[in-house]
Amino acid sequence: MHAADSDRPAVSVRDADDRPGRWQGRYVAGCDGRHGAVRRSLPPGAVRHHRHDYGVSWLSLLAEAPPSLDAVGYALHSRGFAGHMARSPEITRYYLQCARGQRLDAWSEQRIWDELELRMRAADFGPLHRGGLVQRAVVELESDVLEPLRHGSLFLVGDAASLLSPAAKGANLAVLEAEILARALTDALKRGDPTGLAEYSERCLRHIWRAQEFSRWMIQLLHRTPGDRPDETLFQDSLRRSRIASLRTSRAHQDWFAENYVGV
Ligand SMILES: Cc1cc2nc3c(=O)[nH]c(=O)nc-3n(C[C@H](O)[C@H](O)[C@H](O)COP(=O)(O)OP(=O)(O)OC[C@H]3O[C@@H](n4cnc5c(N)ncnc54)[C@H](O)[C@@H]3O)c2cc1C
Repeated sequence: MHAADSDRPAVSVRDADDRPGRWQGRYVAGCDGRHGAVRRSLPPGAVRHHRHDYGVSWLSLLAEAPPSLDAVGYALHSRGFAGHMARSPEITRYYLQCARGQRLDAWSEQRIWDELELRMRAADFGPLHRGGLVQRAVVELESDVLEPLRHGSLFLVGDAASLLSPAAKGANLAVLEAEILARALTDALKRGDPTGLAEYSERCLRHIWRAQEFSRWMIQLLHRTPGDRPDETLFQDSLRRSRIASLRTSRAHQDWFAENYVGV
């Protein structure tokens, strides 16, 4: 990224044959994720960086197996959280909370499936559909937000702008921001109206902070905080049970949850 704060920004690129080049434009949309070039090219002090580490880690797993439930499944267990998300008729994503710093090779396929069945109470609800694990990774639940989402002619979008924990809907948010930016760029370039670009950061940050707050709420619902004293754990477990009871019984609470979960 070059000259982001000017009205002639440019990016260094390599084409399909790996030949270096330089593209110049009026604006740059930075959509290259959390580890992309755009974040690294921001000069010090250009944006504020808000950051939070939840201290919680997940094994993130992709199984070549059909879903085991009709719905998304969140299991709260004294041994830790487990999650089930259908991806396609043949592929299912699972999550297992694990200790911070845990090595992947500590988890054999057999151990993973046994732990998933235990935490998801397969003895009560039926066995899981097992299959080969085609992807395994340790994910640390962290969030961050860059503010503002604009530096001169550069606009930050998706994970380049803000990282949500996988307990929330980062891809939904990324698509929403891309749509807001696309409309603003169209207005600026085709109609000469820069209002949408001027408002882009503030408008997206409202959605981002709503999503961050909901993500924190979900993480608190799904996990014990590692390192809590036993009496604190007991207190937090009771709060979680009360929260779930309220979700089961209160229509207002259910509406609030649905609105935030879908990301309206
Ligand atoms: C385990 C896990 C599970 C998740 N589950 C969900 C879910 O169920 N629902 C949901 O909504 N979200 C989920 N998310 C979040 C979601 O994946 C991200 O929020 C989303 O992918 C962000 O999209 P993005 O386009 O901003 O970034 P990315 O998806 O990271 O895409 C950025 C792209 O830029 C490319 N790139 C990077 N650097 C360069 C460069 N220098 N030059 C050219 N290209 C470059 C990358 O190769 C990549 O293709 C999950 C995340 C994780 C880690």
